[in-house]
Amino acid sequence: MGGRGSSYFNRSGSMRIKVSDTYDQDKPTNNRTRIVEKLTKRNVQVMASTDKIPDEILTPNLKQLDRIMSRFRQYSDYAEVENLKVRTETFSNPNIQACFRCDADSFTRPEIIFNKTYEKRNAIQIEQEVQGQINGNYWTKSDRQNLLVHTMTHEMGHYVQRVLTEQIAEQRGEVDIRARNPLKYDNTIANEMTNKIAMICKQQFNSKIKTSEYGSTNDYEFFAETFSEMLTCDNPSDTAKSLEIYLKGEK
Ligand SMILES: [Zn+2]
Repeated sequence: MGGRGSSYFNRSGSMRIKVSDTYDQDKPTNNRTRIVEKLTKRNVQVMASTDKIPDEILTPNLKQLDRIMSRFRQYSDYAEVENLKVRTETFSNPNIQACFRCDADSFTRPEIIFNKTYEKRNAIQIEQEVQGQINGNYWTKSDRQNLLVHTMTHEMGHYVQRVLTEQIAEQRGEVDIRARNPLKYDNTIANEMTNKIAMICKQQFNSKIKTSEYGSTNDYEFFAETFSEMLTCDNPSDTAKSLEIYLKGEK
């Protein structure tokens, strides 16, 4: 693993993938498109390392990121509290599309990282790959027009869950408890969220929560997979609807 950070969430089912760490050499992109400027106002920095990603991949993903941020402003101000960076790095596994990375003990450098392999790919290839994973029920569904942004939306799920966890720790006066063992604390809160979403699903829809194979890995992947479905489907499952009800309500 790189020099820092223990919270790597990725699409391999393993939290131990290697991702390079060029954070300190990266700077905001000079390619100041409208969407880049819009995101900057939302406290999201698109970094120069993304410059070589084809526009047909990067722009839809940035627009989706903007949509996610504006959607969550309706519920609370949590989506924009931290300075999120959108970057690329080299992944040891070329097949992984993206990951969310942030130090476990400090929430100062959250990143959505695309694999540098995105530079050599086109939109159709990525859509086909995502569709294949959905067909095998390995990933949760996305509507056709959103296949390209499926993975980034999943990674944003990790970001949102982390923001919520930090806020819960503050609201409950448990910041010190979290600081002593962040991973243990985050596991507890992630599990609590799964249980609350399951309860909503039972009460409102009389059904059990369902997720993809990848979403069954742990409570973090359950949240991210459900989040991705919620934001990439016009007609999401009861589980995804329950997540939205949870997000709108008391934590
Ligand atoms: Zn994940």
